[in-house]
Amino acid sequence: MDRIEIHQKAFELFLDADAIAKRIRLLAVQLNLDYENKIPVFVGVLNGGFLFLADLIKEINIPCEIEFIKVSSYKGQESTGTLRQSFALPTNLQNRHVILVEDIVDTGFTINNLVNKVKEHKPASVATCTLLFKPDALKEKIDPLTYIAFEIPPAFVVGYGLDFDGLGRNLKDIYRAV
Ligand code: 5GP
Repeated sequence: MDRIEIHQKAFELFLDADAIAKRIRLLAVQLNLDYENKIPVFVGVLNGGFLFLADLIKEINIPCEIEFIKVSSYKGQESTGTLRQSFALPTNLQNRHVILVEDIVDTGFTINNLVNKVKEHKPASVATCTLLFKPDALKEKIDPLTYIAFEIPPAFVVGYGLDFDGLGRNLKDIYRAV
């Protein structure tokens, strides 16, 4: 379907499932090389990052661990600027190679906040891996993102884990607001 409606708002097809899968396979090739013999800890950022992390991890063929943190700063289509953390980072990140896996970096607020929290644990390294990055929406200076699947314009997107007020996470493709 090229056009859909969610909560009476129109969205058009933007990135299809095949393009997403191909890009994820390439990212995983890079991660498999970069983290060989390092036993990294992937920390998936919920809710939006669950499908991305699940698909990415299936392409990772080196020993690794997986953890989750649940945060939210969005209400409707606007970032609220305050990060609500419903469950915390694992406590055993000291001297570990941590890879934060995000659905999307928009203002940069969430990723900055999480990177700082991970650094408090004195990890061996921290990398960020995001499915989507909206460079024109950035409001905070961020450490360069380490792995980016797609750079996109600053329109609101749904699908493949991303929601619009609770709906749309189950869509296989990514749609953008028209
Ligand atoms: P930031 O803190 O960088 O402003 O935003 C990060 C979070 O806001 C993401 O993890 C995601 O949950 C949400 N977000 C940002 N842009 C979008 C968007 O276009 N669509 C959806 N559904 N969520 C977004």
